[in-house]
Amino acid sequence: MLSYRHAFHAGNHADVLKHSILSRIILYLVQKEKPFSYIETHAGAGLYHLDGEWAKKTGEASSGIIKLLNTPAIPELFNPYLEICRSLFADEHQYPGSPEIARALSRNDDQLTLIELHSSEIEILRENFSGDPRIHLHNRDGFSGLTALTPPNPRRGVALIDPSYEMANDYKKVVDTLLSVHTRWPAGMLVLWYPILGRRIEEVFQLKKALTESGIPGILNAEVLLNEPESSPETEEGTAGFGLAGSGMIIIQPPWTLFDELKIMLPFLSETLCNDGKGSWKTEWLTKA
Ligand code: SAM
Repeated sequence: MLSYRHAFHAGNHADVLKHSILSRIILYLVQKEKPFSYIETHAGAGLYHLDGEWAKKTGEASSGIIKLLNTPAIPELFNPYLEICRSLFADEHQYPGSPEIARALSRNDDQLTLIELHSSEIEILRENFSGDPRIHLHNRDGFSGLTALTPPNPRRGVALIDPSYEMANDYKKVVDTLLSVHTRWPAGMLVLWYPILGRRIEEVFQLKKALTESGIPGILNAEVLLNEPESSPETEEGTAGFGLAGSGMIIIQPPWTLFDELKIMLPFLSETLCNDGKGSWKTEWLTKA
């Protein structure tokens, strides 16, 4: 049974990392006239009310996007992401999920495919996104769905894999999915988000090791850590709640500009979002381009 609901966590520090990096990748893709495909395996609801009951219960956005919106002197690289956040926040106290970031930054000829398995989340996603001819919604498993839907048309493009990691097995599944999708779609940029939790350090270590040894060239890793990871029990809402010390992204075939951008974005995020000055960050190539 799926119990994770992203509304509890929308706009937290992990979303800020994921969505600001995603915005840089999409902005790179729109620099060329040719259209691109965007596929997301775990889309969630797409838009979240920060004054909703669930968001208020955890208050995670206050140490994520709200903190960022109240910070002066933010590096320009964040502007496109923050403009989307600012206008949604000002209008309706909403926060954009990754589907909304992709929708807002894409153009008329780009194609967006959003996959979501949860029966209630897909309904909200439909309410938020149906009626746009560029957007194709699928209520199915995101791992097998991505494999089945690749290579997409147009072939140029990006896939975001953003599971809730409710099962320890998800760490292995993401590796299997990345390997099979890269074989089917070698031109695709593949982007993975993962949590950094004390009780899952070994799983993340194995995930990175498998990708480092995969033979796939050009794998970039980015992490921001706000606390020392400590072992903590599972939460009712899945792994992304209590105990989330930080998070990371793995990008296969990133834009050539991204590594230098991360060297500006990550230190800023770790310093701004960490309360006690003990945040850290890193970006490195797991395999050479
Ligand atoms: N990507 C979204 C964003 O950044 O705005 C957040 C997604 S949330 C972390 C993970 C989502 O995956 C949840 O909405 C959950 O219902 C969904 N989910 C869980 N297992 C799934 C599966 N096997 N296939 C597709 N979706 C799944």
